[in-house]
Amino acid sequence: MDKIKTVIVLATHNLGKLEEFRRLFAPTGVHLRLDDVSTEEIVEETGTTYRENAELKAQAVATRTGHWALADDSGLEVDWLGGSPGVKSARFVSDDNWENTREILLRLIGTPWSQRTAIMRAVLCLASPHGLVFFSEGVVEGHILTWPKGQGGFGVDPIFSIDGETSFAEWSQELKDNVSHRGMAVQGIIPIIQQVMAL
Ligand code: IMP
Repeated sequence: MDKIKTVIVLATHNLGKLEEFRRLFAPTGVHLRLDDVSTEEIVEETGTTYRENAELKAQAVATRTGHWALADDSGLEVDWLGGSPGVKSARFVSDDNWENTREILLRLIGTPWSQRTAIMRAVLCLASPHGLVFFSEGVVEGHILTWPKGQGGFGVDPIFSIDGETSFAEWSQELKDNVSHRGMAVQGIIPIIQQVMAL
């Protein structure tokens, strides 16, 4: 991959996402910088879709900083729950990650394995200070385990499994990056970043 030397401000202070973005962009030469101000302080996620929220966040940070900005809006969509918590994954029943994770497990008690299907989706938005926006989306399919497993990862990783046995929280970071929704979305946005930065 060609190295690109550029600075992009990341419109997130979610430590789990941040760590993944740093790893995923490491081979590209893109320097991801954190905004001095927390994105949550300057923008409210009032959108009804990942795309809208990702754009709100990226645009707010690009306008504030005067630099290109990258935002991620992502979530877990459980089929048995009609696609919930979806765009509300970070604030399903509360702001607390464990309470939200527990609520998903509670609502699925007694649900057979074949019906515990779910996806994780990530939508990235790259925004310029002058209002140009580009998007990339990634999806990973899996099942919701009956019990949380593993110490790694973040968010709902302990209950999401793509092999039916182990959770993302038990996987190495590299393994998750290779198949995850965020990994896929980043692979889609890198060529766009390379093109806009070359102009
Ligand atoms: P956002 O910050 O509004 O985009 O909400 C993201 C939420 O979706 C997180 O708080 C997690 O609950 C969930 N989520 C998204 N991506 C992941 C992931 O890679 N692992 C675990 N949970 C995730």
